[in-house]
Amino acid sequence: MAGCQPTSEKKDLNLIPYPAELTEGSGMFDLSANLKHAIFIGDADEALVSYLINTIKTEQGLELSTCEQGKIRFEINRELQLPKEGYQLSVAPQGVTVTANERVGLFYAIQTLRQLIQVDEKGQASIPAVKIKDYPRFAWRGMHFDVSRHIFSVAEIKQFIDYLAMNKLNTLHWHLVDDQGWRLEIKKYPKLTEVGGWRDKVGFEANQTKGLNTDDGKPYGGFYTQEQVKDVVAYAAERHITIVPEIELPGHSAAALVAYPEYYCDNAGDLEIWSQAGVSAGVYCAGEESTFQFLEDVLAETMELFPSEFIHIGGDETPKDTWLACPKCKKRMKDVNAHDEHELQSYFVSRIEKYLSKNGRRLIGWDEILDGGLAPNAAVMSWRGVAGGVKAAEAGHDVVMTPMFPYYFNHVQNHVPNAPGHPGISTLRDVYTFPTIPANISVENRKHIIGVQANIWTEYTPKFEHIEYNIFPRLFAISEVAWSPAIKTWENFYTRVQNQFPILDKHGVNYGEISYHVGINVNPQYEANAAEIEFIAERPLPIFYTTDGSEPTQASNVYKGKFVLDQNAHIKACQFKPDGTTPNISEKEINFHKAFGKSYELKYDHAPQYDGGGKFGLTNGFLGVWIGVEEKPVDVTIDLGAETEITKINSRFKNQPMSWVFGPKTITYYVSVDGQTFNEVATFNPGVTESDVNEIVTYPAEFAPEKVRYIRILAKSVGVCPDWHPAAGGKAWIFADEIIVE
Ligand SMILES: [Zn+2]
Repeated sequence: MAGCQPTSEKKDLNLIPYPAELTEGSGMFDLSANLKHAIFIGDADEALVSYLINTIKTEQGLELSTCEQGKIRFEINRELQLPKEGYQLSVAPQGVTVTANERVGLFYAIQTLRQLIQVDEKGQASIPAVKIKDYPRFAWRGMHFDVSRHIFSVAEIKQFIDYLAMNKLNTLHWHLVDDQGWRLEIKKYPKLTEVGGWRDKVGFEANQTKGLNTDDGKPYGGFYTQEQVKDVVAYAAERHITIVPEIELPGHSAAALVAYPEYYCDNAGDLEIWSQAGVSAGVYCAGEESTFQFLEDVLAETMELFPSEFIHIGGDETPKDTWLACPKCKKRMKDVNAHDEHELQSYFVSRIEKYLSKNGRRLIGWDEILDGGLAPNAAVMSWRGVAGGVKAAEAGHDVVMTPMFPYYFNHVQNHVPNAPGHPGISTLRDVYTFPTIPANISVENRKHIIGVQANIWTEYTPKFEHIEYNIFPRLFAISEVAWSPAIKTWENFYTRVQNQFPILDKHGVNYGEISYHVGINVNPQYEANAAEIEFIAERPLPIFYTTDGSEPTQASNVYKGKFVLDQNAHIKACQFKPDGTTPNISEKEINFHKAFGKSYELKYDHAPQYDGGGKFGLTNGFLGVWIGVEEKPVDVTIDLGAETEITKINSRFKNQPMSWVFGPKTITYYVSVDGQTFNEVATFNPGVTESDVNEIVTYPAEFAPEKVRYIRILAKSVGVCPDWHPAAGGKAWIFADEIIVE
């Protein structure tokens, strides 16, 4: 139950990520008494030891020195039986011994050791006696950083790397190119950065509205020279972090194609380097042979700079309309026997894969690269939920799990007004408790889940302070998920996170506030015509709620555990801050209507990542969880199971054109007794929205009572984004919610 914390149980040491094996001893090592002879370098090296000394100085204000009699001793023992990257750390009153097979283990031991130091009110520093044997759960423990939407200085990139290292992450996925700017110097193609590195203005107006930055109307951009990149790669390597560069292809490439339009399809029109969010039509021509030479040249220089096993090639969100209109692309499709544009993308990616393989590297890309087939050695990053990851792993590909909810740290984590980031909340608790390895993956293919990664896209985080705000404290959660063999209870983790904040303060980190968010889980009980309600909160504070739509106060019901509702309800729930205000009231409407829990068939399936909450997404009784269908209509037939008298149908759609989501162009309701002959009972013609709105549209219809068994809803999609839209011609989405039948 939220709010309850075991008090009798002995508290865990304040370590994040929590070690694989830990045994507490008795007594402690007196660090204050040993400052002058603290460290014996032994098998460590100067860089490691100065790292330790500097970190402890920053975090605890203690000046440690080294000498032959030093009581903190480092040993490399190659015979030690330890998994890769593991270490042993032993603290006793007599001293501290750190042992590992190789340097990386010593480095991770230092990250543990610095967190073990305790300083009392009198300023006396000690380390509690403990024996730790530690090693990671996953080989790939990643954090991504987008520097295309906004660029960050070399010093900031290094700071970011330090944050990863402190949390035992070992991979930085550096998103260097996109529609909004090309950031990597390529000597053979200087215009990539001279032209492709700059856009008209900083853009992303929402940031200026929120006061996050100002738009001075001047060109915005920049890039990293190859010398700077080498410096960053070396800096990361010393902290045992591999940088995996991402060169997006074939889409998300407007910046490259504005610089070198010869690799864009003929007659595809003009491109610009974007200063807003979204997906541009900038896609490399798949028919033009010189495109591949260009990309191989770019990748050759990239591989020179980055020694990583993997090279990320993007592969996501590729509008293919330019290909379908291009004679060269059409010829290529014929020549390579590609039956459709997806197979042409597969051809494109596989050519690049062969080139990387020939050079001893492995390709990794976003889960769209699975469409149309993929080379066995290639790996997949599952971002559209975990379904793509499961599919890839079952097909034998290695997978890194990065589901956008909850692992995209660009989504806000709290309800602080004007907090930087994309709409859509992903709380610290969401990140910590998310089941990384889906239950539906076969046991033998679990080994293909090689890691987890959190991503930060920077459209709405223009400054480094915003990056810090969004990655902390969530970085602690991804760290523990990636490293520790098993996660602990939320309450245990929450307590340990509290103890990390003073350390972040010492490092001057602008971390985000833990939210006062209350999650409402509804578990429908279809047989009983009821639903079980559960509230989930981050903070150990009471949750107050109502079920009649009124605003909760501190006199409202206090949540005491799961409860069952069997009447229509409008639930509102919140926690209160110490000053009596609440930053957010969560709500959910539940409706036990006549189609509640009834099965239905969709003529065109929803995308796996927008499943409306499962099998009964359109009839589960609660509002606000959507199914999403791309390009095609929502054409659904509900089977009520028996002839039932009905007089009302209502449906709900989302209208949010800037996210490529459009309400239906037309919508018609039909009813049928036998499932063969359908009679129309209502139709609406809302047309196509021509403005930047974000709204829910409903289509209630009332008619004379009819006894029917089947109901069909046909909601026609606009198909593609209209001419006025920044992504004109790109596939549009239609999002449908509960279909309420009364
Ligand atoms: Zn073409």
